Amino acid sequence: MPTSDSDLSRTEASEPDQPTISQLSLLLELQEEDLALDRLDYRRRELAERGAVAELGARLTELRARVAEAQDQRDKLATQQLTLDQRSEAVGARIAAIEQRLRSGRAGSYRDEQAMGEEAESLSHQRREVEDQELEVMEALEPLDAELASLQDAASSAAEELALAREQLQLATAAIDLEAETVRAARDQLAERVAPELSASYERLRAKLGGIGAAHLVGGACSGCHLQIPAGELHRLRHATPDSVVYCDQCGRILIMAGDHTDRQ
Ligand SMILES: [Zn+2]
Repeated sequence: MPTSDSDLSRTEASEPDQPTISQLSLLLELQEEDLALDRLDYRRRELAERGAVAELGARLTELRARVAEAQDQRDKLATQQLTLDQRSEAVGARIAAIEQRLRSGRAGSYRDEQAMGEEAESLSHQRREVEDQELEVMEALEPLDAELASLQDAASSAAEELALAREQLQLATAAIDLEAETVRAARDQLAERVAPELSASYERLRAKLGGIGAAHLVGGACSGCHLQIPAGELHRLRHATPDSVVYCDQCGRILIMAGDHTDRQ
């Protein structure tokens, strides 16, 4: 009878162990799903399409700045051209008026006539100068117009390329999001089955230790920190009750023995 009693009590004691063992393997599965999500996050961040969008965006910004600069330069020259045109016209009108007076014989005295002739000559000289300046401005405008047109072309094709790259980034992101949705659903289902206390401890460690809160034994080493567990500690861990939650002495992660076949041989 006492044997049977003891057997009974052992069975009773081991019963709550069962869910705990599965709790730890659940936790390990949860860790795998979390790592899969982390990998998807990383892929989303590091998408080549994202780099292309950034590069094209920078190129477009630079091209637009150059367009604005060339446009500004062109506007200044156009203003200068207008001023010179107006001056040339005014000088021309004065010359015409003087010539008109001289021709009409209403110039007055000979000295007046002579003074007017001198003024007309000086004005003609001025007009030639203004015309030379106008020519210079026109010569400067020509290559600037060509440059402006080519910059505008480059900017508009960069804008088109950027729109396309953004579309591709969106597609690539959507594909990852879809995959993540599936993994997250599986993860959430697992998480619901893990005891709240264990889950909280796991989450806390995961946040603190680079995304890995639960590790397992691989060839006598912790899979979290990859450090070999000292022989004495290993022996103690292997003989700990299966329900006990143990932590790696070196990194502090939850150390799971369950399922570690190589270590259990
Ligand atoms: Zn460790």
